[in-house]
Amino acid sequence: MSKQVQAIRGMNDCLPQDSGLWQYLEQLLRQTVTSYGYQEIRFPIVEMTELFKRSIGEVTDIVEKEMYTFSDRNGDSLTLRPEGTACCVRAGNEHGLLYNQEQRLWYMGPMFRHERPQKGRYRQFHQFGLESFGVATADMDAEVILLSARLWQQLGLTQHVRLQLNTLGSPEARQRYRTALVDYLSGHLELLDEDSKRRLHSNPLRILDSKNPALAELLAAAPKLADYLDSESVEHFAEVQQRLTAAGVRYELNPRLVRGLDYYNKTVFEWVTDSLGAQGTVCAGGRYDGLVEQLGGKSCPAVGFALGIERLVLLLQTLDLAPVAPAQADWYLMATDPATELAMVPIAEQLRTAFPQRRIMQHCGGGAMKKQFKKADKSGAELALVLGSDELASNSITLKWLRQERPQQRIALTELVGFLQTI
Ligand code: ATP
Ligand code: MG
Repeated sequence: MSKQVQAIRGMNDCLPQDSGLWQYLEQLLRQTVTSYGYQEIRFPIVEMTELFKRSIGEVTDIVEKEMYTFSDRNGDSLTLRPEGTACCVRAGNEHGLLYNQEQRLWYMGPMFRHERPQKGRYRQFHQFGLESFGVATADMDAEVILLSARLWQQLGLTQHVRLQLNTLGSPEARQRYRTALVDYLSGHLELLDEDSKRRLHSNPLRILDSKNPALAELLAAAPKLADYLDSESVEHFAEVQQRLTAAGVRYELNPRLVRGLDYYNKTVFEWVTDSLGAQGTVCAGGRYDGLVEQLGGKSCPAVGFALGIERLVLLLQTLDLAPVAPAQADWYLMATDPATELAMVPIAEQLRTAFPQRRIMQHCGGGAMKKQFKKADKSGAELALVLGSDELASNSITLKWLRQERPQQRIALTELVGFLQTI
């Protein structure tokens, strides 16, 4: 036997036993955002590398070490998209969707990051995201968060996720805070780890996000962003909270939440769970009023979020909240010999026309009845329709119930569709 080629580490197949759950999730996400007036946008999986460098930020985990970047045959530097927001803004700018307009957009699909694969962290993973463009006021931040809260409610996850909230203020306020933070940390250089030293002048806010326990004390005593915020951002944030409270959505304020991407301002939020270990963030987002202009468009406020579908799938499975996988078939059609098998073909097609929602499998490959019934059972079908030579001679068919105590019955072919409509 020749050696099998394996999948790439951190890139998963979605097998039939799981694809039902994925479809259920995708359908629910689609339906919910559509009910808020969001429209789907699709963009390519590969973009110019520069797009991500300019938007996510040069000194971020993603751009520094996680991107799948390669040269195209003509020498262009291309990157497999690590996230969707930058792509969405690029497409919006390119097609004039954002200038002086409001857009509520959603997307779904694979993203790529070269991280250390582990439970809930993969190299190809899937995000569902939405972006709302053109509204600068806090009502939109709140709507986006409420929409996400509704998703957890519909999935039965409300008790298992917590909302963390922070505000990053205006870029100017952040700049003032940045200076104060760098001053403070520079006075304690000997306590910083290598990563933090490197970030000190390029992306000091990210040091606050450090998971290194040795830094905890130092960071706890650091200047607080809250003390440097501009009054407009403070008011904006208060209004977001007021609306969440009015809608009965609970939240925790987390002043250390800065998010790993550079483009955010004002509101940032994450939905976290304690049920997935270290990979506990299932959904993350915030406001990014400067990004559209930064990517060459006319200034346009925006807010959005992205959620990790794998983490949601894991969460539903861990908590036993995944709906029962549907059977493969509803009705299984079998025949006793080549003549009846041939006669079954138009019957099967007629049934598929009459019952487009039913899953109708016709046995292929012949064989004894016993074997055919085994296959019917394995398919999960509730009903077997059997055509034998007696049935063929009398223009009828036999129905056998596979999952309930109910006598088999023979039905005239002319009455078959009518009868099946009643079950
Ligand atoms: P983390 O802190 O877990 O690395 P992140 O801040 O890098 O997450 P975002 O870029 O905000 O994540 O992406 C939004 C969501 O996408 C995350 O909350 C998570 O659910 C999911 N996600 C991000 N990276 C991965 C990955 N490598 N594998 C699976 N899901 C991921
Ligand atoms: Mg990450």
